[in-house]
Amino acid sequence: MYRVGELPVALQRAIAKHVPPEAMITRVEFEGPEIVIYVRNPALIASRPEIARNLAKELKKRIVFRAEKDARKPPEEAKKIIMEIVPKEAEIKTIVFDEVLGEVVIKARKVGLVYGRGKAIYNKIFAETGWRPVILRAPDWESTTLNSIVSFMLRESSYRSKILREMGERIHRGVLFENRYVRITALGGFMEVGRSAILVETGESRVLLDFGVNPGGTGYNMYPHVDVDQLRPEELDAVIVTHAHLDHMGLVPFLFKYGYRGPVFVTKPTRDLMVLSLYDYLDVASKEAGRAPFTHHDIKKMILHTIALDYGEVTDVAPDIKLTFYNAGHILGSAIAHLHIGEGLFNLVYTGDLKYANTRLLTKAHTEFPRVEALIIESTYGNKRQPKRSQAEMELIQWIVRTIQVKKGKVLIPVLAVGRAQEILLVISEAVAKKFMPEVPIYVDGMIDEVTAIHLTYPEYLSGSLRKKILYGENPFTADYIVKVEHPSMREEIISSTEPCIIIATSGMLNGGPSVEYFRKLASDPRNTLIFVSYQVKGTLGRRVLEAGTGGQVTLVSPDGKLEVIKINMDVVSVEGFSGHSDIDQLIAFLRDIKPKPKYLILNHGEPEAIYKFKARIERECRRGGRLEGAPFCEPGRIYTPSNLDSLLLTR
Ligand SMILES: [Zn+2]
Ligand SMILES: [Zn+2]
Repeated sequence: MYRVGELPVALQRAIAKHVPPEAMITRVEFEGPEIVIYVRNPALIASRPEIARNLAKELKKRIVFRAEKDARKPPEEAKKIIMEIVPKEAEIKTIVFDEVLGEVVIKARKVGLVYGRGKAIYNKIFAETGWRPVILRAPDWESTTLNSIVSFMLRESSYRSKILREMGERIHRGVLFENRYVRITALGGFMEVGRSAILVETGESRVLLDFGVNPGGTGYNMYPHVDVDQLRPEELDAVIVTHAHLDHMGLVPFLFKYGYRGPVFVTKPTRDLMVLSLYDYLDVASKEAGRAPFTHHDIKKMILHTIALDYGEVTDVAPDIKLTFYNAGHILGSAIAHLHIGEGLFNLVYTGDLKYANTRLLTKAHTEFPRVEALIIESTYGNKRQPKRSQAEMELIQWIVRTIQVKKGKVLIPVLAVGRAQEILLVISEAVAKKFMPEVPIYVDGMIDEVTAIHLTYPEYLSGSLRKKILYGENPFTADYIVKVEHPSMREEIISSTEPCIIIATSGMLNGGPSVEYFRKLASDPRNTLIFVSYQVKGTLGRRVLEAGTGGQVTLVSPDGKLEVIKINMDVVSVEGFSGHSDIDQLIAFLRDIKPKPKYLILNHGEPEAIYKFKARIERECRRGGRLEGAPFCEPGRIYTPSNLDSLLLTR
């Protein structure tokens, strides 16, 4: 805690310049990346929003004003005032007070009405109650993950506030060293797909970009290189996670097990999806022989250290590093990370996984940045062209129609819970609406409905047309022909009924999850169809089924532990084109459109063949008349293809 007089001089001056004495500042705290100023006169701050704005602008820091404890109304009274101020149409569901932070969490159906035009109602609540509103959306389906994160944070509020202050002290410590350089070290996900991890070092600080597992790996190959000298978890300044796929965040709790106590920066949807997926990962790992590399306890520690941001929010993550997330178009909340290092010394952009094309669910990746010197870009499909979305959608609907109308059978679509499931639901509901196919029950089984609930919580992260539908019209995810499978006993009924239907179930590669059970029971009937909509990795049951094909057979272990031979009489097809990754043409288009053009390119997240072909293609496009002609990275020796454990000094 600081009195104003104890703060660094620049901060004191800025506060004296912008905050009138009538605000009555009592103390200032560094809480994570934010500077929190406590006042006795919240009404003044609320009535003049330019105070916070100008202060933030001058300091280039995130500024938050809170009312001192004795300047807040008692909760019961504050609750009454809030109910009077907020229009009834906002449909407030819950109001919970966080005594430690002085925040009031208001959950409502229509959050826009709680903010009011130009945040007028938000400011009025702060002015009249002294409680700083935190507004959450209550969607048609509530996310139980988000609810449990929020109540866990509230329960642990005093511990969390202590952590935030410790992190804040670290982030805002002055820059000590004048030794200015930027170096990256490839810890995983270079010349391969899986276990993405990049260490960024400056003279001052150390930051990790992603820290994932390799789902197809075994033993040592599952982990990024945690044994390098520079990676001492207790000395890291920050961990930045681009999105909630296990190959990018699956081992973040492991860092907490080994002494990391710093912040984890993510977008808001990524936080929720990450927590859900990590608990699921532990659940699966505990059922299998191999032990998980961390426990529930480590996930909880991670949650308390997580700082969730929105796209475009500039945030200090270390004394000399500012982070901004931008939409990556890959899954809900997926982000491109922009690092502004050392007051203009260097700007590094890391794409994470990237989709540079609009989908039904999301808008294509962002391409405009304040500055970029080096770009780390994913290369998964650096050597492949994908069929067009519209073509893939048509093929999917044709197979569905053929199955339910002609064969009068059932369609089984194994899906990844995050992203693909929602995309497929949208494609089907659109086809139903346009009468391209008859309306039949769609059963949704596995983690999918919880993931859908998280999508509904963050409509501002979704594509424009979907957002409009969810907020103002027909929510396609809640159509009455979409039925949640609430209990395993329901599966038996679905399987034994003679009615045609569509079953969308996890996992996407038939490696565990309810999709396996449906497959076992539906495979022998030629009226049914199995449709894969994602890549089937070698070694998974999905891949073996695809290779065996209709008429073939596969052997698997049944739930009671016996070997079972499954004769495949159902149609087995794979529809390509639904990938969340950019294909080679989209990757080149991204490089063509990115502004400004980087000086250096670093290719990662791809098998060697994809990386080398991608590099060759970039070089071809750099030639005269090519689509990338004249870009600074076209100069000789500026495209890097590092392997794991390579380090690159970027400031030369
Ligand atoms: Zn991904
Ligand atoms: Zn990935």
